[in-house]
This record gives sequence, structure tokens and C-alpha cells, in this order.
Amino acid sequence: MNPIHKRFNYQALISNVRDLASSVTVRVPTFRGGVQVRPDKEKTQEMTIADYMDPKEDLVYPLTDAYGNTFTALVAVGDKVQRDQIIAETEEGLPLYSSVSGTVKDIAMKLTAYADKVRSIIVENDHAYTTADRPFTPESYKELPEEEIRLRIRAAGIIEPTSKMFLDQMLQGAEASQIHTVLIDGAETEPEMSAAYRLMLEDSWRIVNGIRVLTKLFPKAEAVLCIADDKPKAIEVMGDYIDHEADHIRVEIVRCKYPQHHPLMLAETVLHEEVSDVSDLLSHGILIISVDTAIAISRAVTQGRPLQRCIVTLSGDCLESPRNYRVRIGTSVKELVENGGVPVREAAKVILGGPITGTVLQDLDVPITKSTACILLMSEESAHQMEESHCIRCGRCVAACPMGLAPYFLEKLVTKRDWKRFESSGGMTCIECGACSFVCPARRKVGISVMKGKTMINERRDLKLRAEAERYAEARFDSTPEEDER
Ligand code: SF4
Ligand code: SF4
Repeated sequence: MNPIHKRFNYQALISNVRDLASSVTVRVPTFRGGVQVRPDKEKTQEMTIADYMDPKEDLVYPLTDAYGNTFTALVAVGDKVQRDQIIAETEEGLPLYSSVSGTVKDIAMKLTAYADKVRSIIVENDHAYTTADRPFTPESYKELPEEEIRLRIRAAGIIEPTSKMFLDQMLQGAEASQIHTVLIDGAETEPEMSAAYRLMLEDSWRIVNGIRVLTKLFPKAEAVLCIADDKPKAIEVMGDYIDHEADHIRVEIVRCKYPQHHPLMLAETVLHEEVSDVSDLLSHGILIISVDTAIAISRAVTQGRPLQRCIVTLSGDCLESPRNYRVRIGTSVKELVENGGVPVREAAKVILGGPITGTVLQDLDVPITKSTACILLMSEESAHQMEESHCIRCGRCVAACPMGLAPYFLEKLVTKRDWKRFESSGGMTCIECGACSFVCPARRKVGISVMKGKTMINERRDLKLRAEAERYAEARFDSTPEEDER
């Protein structure tokens, strides 16, 4: 067990709450379901974030990202590029930046972790890191008008991983809604991952500054930084740092229960709001960002810098010194795995993401993107999974499901391809947390089955929409001028 977690006495914390900073509140209730997991973060959380900011190999920037955004290249093969230069943009003008200076070597199909080959810009690093002229000068957010703050956030191309959207799109959606609460996710309850924890210790000023920027945009909203109870040091540091009265920000301690970090679970725990879809949070007046996004906001607004780096937890039992790394977006996973940490044995499996929600990488030659948070190098013993056996109807998956679903039943409906009942049984509200598979004593991959069901239904909906659009187009094409006049 994580020594910090073991030492941390929740009851003692509650009884000593008066000793905590006035900005800290302790929340005893929690969301329904979920699982108590072993955090397994002790190795990485005690080490400071290391830089891996001078990648040797080419940088790869996919023109379709993990969240389905597509970009058009603004550069051609042979062009010289600079760090912080826009090399591609979406139809709405949202940017993709180069994280190094160098030459565009190719624009070609490259493998990614989330999809088969994707058209990508490949940049050869010249290691000079010459920076493109910044359109914005460094400024305190206090001096900037609201419009300029929004412009700077849009120009930085920040993507919020919890909602899988550009922050600019979230802010536009938030504008129309009455935002009453800004929740900042510092819970990080998936085992092994510790990037947010380290950021709260090492970059506290920027986190608070980023939150202050948001509270300037939404002056009526209260900002709540949610930190799980297995991170007492982060609670202390952030609690001391925040001036509750002046900042309208407070720290709230939530239980270290998986998946407490999920936006819907944070809303349920802190605000008692039961929302069934992340995309509905804004219409409920709730804006949720991660601590990394708060830092990106601070950098974008006060320094005029775009998003071109991320923090990746490199961990697993194949490394002697697992650690968090600050990495340039576009760096190869293979390069980081070979150069970060000290390998003590060959990895049988490399997992991108945490041990519960991550996916096994078949080929490590894929780029690190804005959505990469963790890479696990697992040995044969730790990756070994027991054979799946028959469901014993124990109901553990039902008790663990934070969305109140019956995963074993949904799995059955997927096998029967009974999509109608799958939908009416709430299958589409699954948040893909994997808690059901994690607790299953029969080692059934129930969560993956439910996810497959969702994918099938979405594909069928897309096909239906496409067929309807084609029928409509055909009907228009077939109509004669006489018919149109009538
Ligand atoms: S993966 Fe889906 S079905 Fe399984 S516990 Fe999570 S929300 Fe429930
Ligand atoms: S936890 Fe596993 S064995 Fe138990 S009911 Fe769910 S699917 Fe069946």
C-alpha cells in the first residue's frame, strides 16, 4: 500500500480541520459506486518532474487528434518552422503548433495510439528552439480586458482532456450558460498517475493564477479545487497558497475512490448534481478543468505562450526510476520509453494511459499528443491476466458502476446484439471508466463489452444519418424544374 495513503488518517483530518487553511473544506459524502483502489503512485509522486525537452527523433503532429478534431496543414514539405509556430488549423481556426524549430520533412500517413494511420506533419528538429514572434506580450491578467483574455486562450489551442474539447469551445458554450461553479480536478484517482499531484506541488502559483483568470471571466462563479485525500501534501500546499476571501477559490477534499476524478463524479460529489453526460455540464452551470489546463491558461494569458508540452507519468515495474516527464508534444513514445527511467527488464506490455483505462500499445513508434498522460511498462508477471471465466452473478460490477448501470446485463445484450434494450437500459450513459472490469472476480472484460456496444450504436446512428442525407440529396437531384416551381 502507498505509504502516504496508509499514513493518512481521514478521521484525524476531519477532527483537525480547524488546523487546515481556511480555504480548505472536507467533504465526507462521495458519489455512488466506484472502487477503492491501491494508488500505486509512491515511486513517481516523490520525484520532481524531469525535463525531456530535447527530443532526438523527428516530431510527429497528427492532423486528426484523439478527440476527432481535424486540422489542415498550413506548411509544406521543405518549409522551415519555428517553435510556437502554427503549422495547422481546424476549420474554425483553432491552431496546432510546432513544439520545436526545424524543417518539415514530410506530410504523410503515420501511426497513432488512438487510430490507424493518420495524415501527419513530420518535423526534423534542428535543436535550436528558435521561437516564432509571439502575437501577445507578457501581461498580468488583471490588466487585460475580458475579450483579450478569451482571445489569448483561443490562440493557445488548449484542449481540455476531461471534456475532450478545445477550451475555447467550452468557454463559448459557457458564455450562454450561467456558470455558478468552476471545478478544478486535482483528484487524480487512477492508479500510477501522479502528474497532477506533482504539478500541485511544483507549479502551485500557475494553477492558482489560471483559476483566477477563469474567475475573472465568470465573476459570479465559485472555484473549487478538488483534491483526493491520498494527497495531504498537495492539500496543504494548495490550501496555504489560496487566499479564500480574496480569490473566491477553495480547496475541497474528496475521497480517493476511483473514478472520483471524472467530471460527472466531481459534480455529483461537490454539488450533488446528477448529470448523465459531460456535454451537459455547461448547461447545468458547471465548468470543469484539470490542473494542467489551469497552468496552460496561466501561460497563455500572462505569457502569451501556446500549448506545446505535456506532463507524462512514465511508470511500471520494468523501470528502476519511474518518474514524471515534461515532454514536447510530437515526441515519439518509443524515444521517451528508451531514454526515460532506467529499464531493469524488458517490458512485456506497454500501456498508454492508466492501468484501468489504458490501452496496450502494439507499436511504440507513435507520437505523444495532448491527450497522453501516462505510459506504463509492465513485466510479464504484472501484466499477466487471469483467464476470463463465466459470470457468477455476484453483482460486484453493479455495485461498482458509478452510473448505476448493470454491466453484466449490458454485456449480455451486446452479445445478443439487442441494441434497443442496450439503449433503454442506459448503456449509452457508460462513462467508460472500467470500474466494472476492475472488480470482476471472473476477470470478465465487461467494461470493454459495454464500450463496444456504445460504438456499435454510434456507428449505426452515423450510417442512418448518412443514408438519410443521401436520400435527401437524391430526392433534390431527381426533382424536375416543373416540380420545383409547383
Ligand atoms: S465502464 Fe461503464 S458500465 Fe463499467 S463501471 Fe464504468 S460506467 Fe459502469
Ligand atoms: S462482477 Fe463479473 S462475475 Fe460478478 S456479476 Fe459482474 S460480470 Fe458477473
